[in-house]
Amino acid sequence: ISAAEQAVLDEIEEKEIDFLRLQFTDILGTVKNVSVPARQAEKAFTEGIYFDGSSIEGFVRIQESDMRLVPDPETFAILPWRDREDGCSARMICDVYDTTSGEPFEGDPRHVLKRALERAEDMGYTVNAAPEPEFFLFEEDENGRATTDTNDAGGYFDLAPKDLASDVRRDIIYGLEDMGFEVEASHHEVAQGQHEINFTYDDALATADNVATFRTVVRAIASEHGYHATFMPKPIPKINGSGMHTHISLFTDDGENAFHDGDDEFDLSDTAKSFLAGVLEHAPAITAVANPTVNSYKRLVPGYEAPVYVAWSDRNRSSLIRKPAARVPAASRIELRSPDPSCNPYLAIATMIHAGLDGIENDLECPDPVRENIYEFDEQTREEYGIDTLPSNLGEAVDALEDDDVVYDALGDHVAPKFVEAKRQEFEEYLIDVSQWELDRYLETF
Ligand code: GLN
Ligand code: MG
Ligand code: MG
Ligand code: MG
Repeated sequence: ISAAEQAVLDEIEEKEIDFLRLQFTDILGTVKNVSVPARQAEKAFTEGIYFDGSSIEGFVRIQESDMRLVPDPETFAILPWRDREDGCSARMICDVYDTTSGEPFEGDPRHVLKRALERAEDMGYTVNAAPEPEFFLFEEDENGRATTDTNDAGGYFDLAPKDLASDVRRDIIYGLEDMGFEVEASHHEVAQGQHEINFTYDDALATADNVATFRTVVRAIASEHGYHATFMPKPIPKINGSGMHTHISLFTDDGENAFHDGDDEFDLSDTAKSFLAGVLEHAPAITAVANPTVNSYKRLVPGYEAPVYVAWSDRNRSSLIRKPAARVPAASRIELRSPDPSCNPYLAIATMIHAGLDGIENDLECPDPVRENIYEFDEQTREEYGIDTLPSNLGEAVDALEDDDVVYDALGDHVAPKFVEAKRQEFEEYLIDVSQWELDRYLETF
């Protein structure tokens, strides 16, 4: 048993933890739990906990359904909202193993991200990432069901009394801090009822774990206040949707930021520029993973601060990638603005990493930044600048994913086909549905 594992066992003892929730995510990014009595912790570390994987989305076929969960001691955290008389619970995030081969399970999204990090490591890099998840707080009706009422007329960075949900947000932040998050900033977003909470950057694996945890904590604490927190990308038409801008940078083994070059006009190294070029090149395919729902594409439309065009900029926010101003060399990074908070963070970050590393390996040339507001360009101007458009719906995005070996392979042999199958099915279901919009528009007209 390792020192980190022993520290967890000691803390379980000391804090009188009764239950352990062992967590992992399915391909769609939903957090799954297996709850075990805390006295099983040692066994979980040494032998793992067996579970039937056949019922988990896209995991395994029925005939090979036994999976083994091994908790990562670094992810131990006491659940703040279960800290009650009925006993205290803690969680750990697990790696999933195939019981037959004993190897990491190919269908585990955490493993997909670890493979991306290994590729980076082989090239001499570690990867840092930081997300900016946005979400809406909606009221619940008398039956406890989510509505799209915000009862809040706040706007960007507004404070109380207009920002009625700020109490909820404050409690969410306390909850996150209890679980070890370092919250950097939180503010009311542009849309009414919309919020953003930023936490400190970390290595990419910890960041993906954090996003999964973040969504759980935000929803749980909001619900204690009678609010429904949603990470649905575009719950209300004609106002801003919710994105999850993702900042990324590579560091070398000696702790230097490989993205920084103080002599460059944009403070970006050649490594950073090739990485950026790789992400631009594979952007359409990444979209299927970073924007994985039908609704994601209602956000990726002009006019709501969400990207539509494949370009980068050191200034404006209509482009897909932005180079944020960095106060210190360590902070040089690029910001991908397409991901939304409905994505599986492990898979989305893994595809970004592979795309960028591919750009470095192939020494891709970085196009010039576009400083104008691209929303205002007509088609001809966009053509002159050589600016592509992101897929305009989930079906097109899945096509792009299937056509892109780098991004498809990033997901791996198990996840890629299952992901494509699930998303095709989702899109087809949507296509044959008849929406409220259609009824409103046509029912009485024809
Ligand atoms: N909500 C916007 C989006 O959809 C982002 C707004 C912002 O953070 N400036 O990406
Ligand atoms: Mg922000
Ligand atoms: Mg924002
Ligand atoms: Mg941002």
